[in-house]
Amino acid sequence: MRVHNFGAGPAALPLPVLERARAELLDFAGTGMSVLEASHRAPAYDAVHRGALDGLRRALGVPAGWSVLLLQGGASLQFAMAPTNLLTSGGSADYVLTGAWSRKALAEAERVAAGRGARARVAGTTEGEGFTRIPRPGELDLDPAAAYLHLTTNNTIFGTQWHELPAAGDVPLVADMSSDVLSRPVDVARFGLIYAGAQKNLGPAGVTLVVVRDDLLERAPAGLATILDYRTHAAKDSLYNTPPTFAIYLLGLVVAWIEEQGGAAAMAERNRAKAESLYAAIDASGFYRGSAEPASRSWMNVTFRLPDEEHEGRFVAAAAGEGLVGLRGHRSVGGVRASLYNAVPPEAVEALVAFLREFERTHG
Ligand code: PMP
Repeated sequence: MRVHNFGAGPAALPLPVLERARAELLDFAGTGMSVLEASHRAPAYDAVHRGALDGLRRALGVPAGWSVLLLQGGASLQFAMAPTNLLTSGGSADYVLTGAWSRKALAEAERVAAGRGARARVAGTTEGEGFTRIPRPGELDLDPAAAYLHLTTNNTIFGTQWHELPAAGDVPLVADMSSDVLSRPVDVARFGLIYAGAQKNLGPAGVTLVVVRDDLLERAPAGLATILDYRTHAAKDSLYNTPPTFAIYLLGLVVAWIEEQGGAAAMAERNRAKAESLYAAIDASGFYRGSAEPASRSWMNVTFRLPDEEHEGRFVAAAAGEGLVGLRGHRSVGGVRASLYNAVPPEAVEALVAFLREFERTHG
């Protein structure tokens, strides 16, 4: 029996994608072998690779002048690779701190900056309020001369999301979209760099999406390790070295599935409806309490509390008993977290809402 998976990542994948992968597992496209066993230079894999890159470009609406890369190392490598390539010596980069992941991104930028007489600066934070919201526009202190402005579009742990981007003028926006990429339309032209681990909305773990504005590639300092230079991957269509072929194959199937559903706009409609029904159930009760300020609530990660930790533990265990799994909040904050990524169907959220009501009735 398949469960309803509300895990934060790696996360649920669309069932038709898993079924297709199973059907093709032993003999891929008439090759007599699995795509897992195929050379990354073979024609059959080449079609998979180009299909995934083209699908991403279409689904994200990536304009000419931006490159789409598929890399390894997760979003965590991008915490380091972004400043390594974009933070010029003597320059300064702005970071908005909205949670644990943006703090990690800042920490890596500080290390890079220290080695080249540059600076990474906090341009806004809601840490004083426990990261329960996104800063309001007037609270940001933006440096108009910054090398870039970094933000985390969705805060997976705290359950907050940017619903309106800050006006950064000519400063390139650099965004960690790990937990909301392709969950809603974005205007890629507003970004200098977008990065996202695939394992929440795009596919399995092991592959990381990077979209980068081509003129920014030339900022990379001389002497970078070849593999850390975005230009290496852009010039070789992400085939400089052996790519994570199976992860890219699955990502390609997920992106095709998103396109079949109507693309990012259709995903946004579905995701908003899922999140609203869960928030409505939380708000209608005096038993559950949403963790994030309503205006900053995430459509992807719905975080909430029960009256005490004991109830939270019982809730998570009882839910698992009903086939609703992955609901434990991040270990650093506790509570309950329901991740409602693209592949989580509306029926799963309906089942969760019914469970919330029943648990409150019996334990409230
Ligand atoms: N950024 C965000 C917003 C995340 O949610 C995560 C992982 N949960 C990361 C970065 C780290 O990603 P990875 O494990 O792929 O390095």
